[in-house]
Amino acid sequence: MEKIITSNENLLIKATSEILKIKSVKGDSLPNMPFGEGPAQSLEYALNLADSFGLRTRNLENFAGWAEWGEGDEMIGILVHLDVVPEGSGWTYPPYSGEIHGGKIYGRGAIDDKGPAMAALFALKSLKDAGIKFNRRVRVIFGTDEESGSECMEYYLRHDEAPTMGFSPDANYPIINGEKGILIFSFTTSFNFKKKESGVEILSFKGGHRPNMVPDYAEVRLSGGDVEEVKRVVESFAETIPSDFEIGYDDAIIIKSFGISAHGSTPEKGKNAAMLLIKLLGQLELIESQKDFINFINDKIGLDTTGKGLGVDLEDEVSGNLSFNVGVVEFDRTRATVTVNIRYPIKYKGEQILSQISRNTPEYINIENVSDNKPHYVSEDNLMIKKLKGAYEKVTGEKAYCFSIGGGTYARMFDNCVAFGPNFPGKPELAHEKDEYIEIEDLIKNLRIYTYVLVELVK
Ligand SMILES: [Zn+2]
Repeated sequence: MEKIITSNENLLIKATSEILKIKSVKGDSLPNMPFGEGPAQSLEYALNLADSFGLRTRNLENFAGWAEWGEGDEMIGILVHLDVVPEGSGWTYPPYSGEIHGGKIYGRGAIDDKGPAMAALFALKSLKDAGIKFNRRVRVIFGTDEESGSECMEYYLRHDEAPTMGFSPDANYPIINGEKGILIFSFTTSFNFKKKESGVEILSFKGGHRPNMVPDYAEVRLSGGDVEEVKRVVESFAETIPSDFEIGYDDAIIIKSFGISAHGSTPEKGKNAAMLLIKLLGQLELIESQKDFINFINDKIGLDTTGKGLGVDLEDEVSGNLSFNVGVVEFDRTRATVTVNIRYPIKYKGEQILSQISRNTPEYINIENVSDNKPHYVSEDNLMIKKLKGAYEKVTGEKAYCFSIGGGTYARMFDNCVAFGPNFPGKPELAHEKDEYIEIEDLIKNLRIYTYVLVELVK
């Protein structure tokens, strides 16, 4: 087996570099290309490569596709994705070139998730090359819309066979067998101006783009206030709470707030620009009709990221504590929306959390646009997990263990599926960052681990 793996190493490096040249960011839907040209092209590349290895393939109308080998009723799925998030700015090397520097392949998607996708495909090729007897089929399933809602895998599940068991190389090693529930909803309220009110009025407020990100910027426009007074409040605020505000003025007073972005599943790692600005607004003399809502948000949420104020700071032994992120805040003169992204421990139910929050929310505020993505958990006694542990320990010499995350891989859409790699403990998290790369050594290690896992799983 070692010899066959070695013979595939250079081909894997080349294929990874090639597929990184395809800009597979989601685009406008075109005829027979639901997510645009780029994702469809990257799928075509992967399926052509699989065809050239002699594997069976299928393209599901450019939503998803697969490459399969082996015989048997049961099927092992390896769930990967070929779409990428936009490249952003500040790259040292061009983001769609697949250039190699200092033992690293650079490019958007190198670690998330094209490199691992290619490693999985070459693992299957290695088994085929070795002429191993398969008692179960192995199918590498390629999705093309993981970064924007995983419509690809929903389509797959509606039109094709669900794996008996499987793993998704789209997170971290060793083994992620638990993913928290994801609850998203908005607090909304309308402002009814009954009479002319005195005080500062919020004309507009904009902070954050997506519920699953910590806003790194927010901006408010105010009328009816005194600029000098606002400046004083900002200064004294900054003395007690680390914050970064900028005050401007045109026909309104403008306050800009700068924070630090982070993923919505780890809000404690960021600095929420929108919530800092709301906290500041709480110290101004706001008009009566807006004041209550601002006070509610500050009293019940504020800068906390545990859900304590709303009585939902829950935890369990397996998956840890609940996280609470305010991802989007929008106000105009008549209406306000505060959108929240909660990751809750696997032992709990979304409805439980929601009803607890409702109890702590006054009547004039609505809870709207609720979406609840249930927690996912695979028991450690599962036979597949034992084999994943074995292969990981054999290749790395490190102890394998299971852990839980805030959630969000393909694994949660399938029974008996876990996330497994590709990032090794202690390595930087490069997904969605500029200068994303995969170390060639790690790419090859992934190939080895996936190959040995499959050897065990097809027995
Ligand atoms: Zn990914």
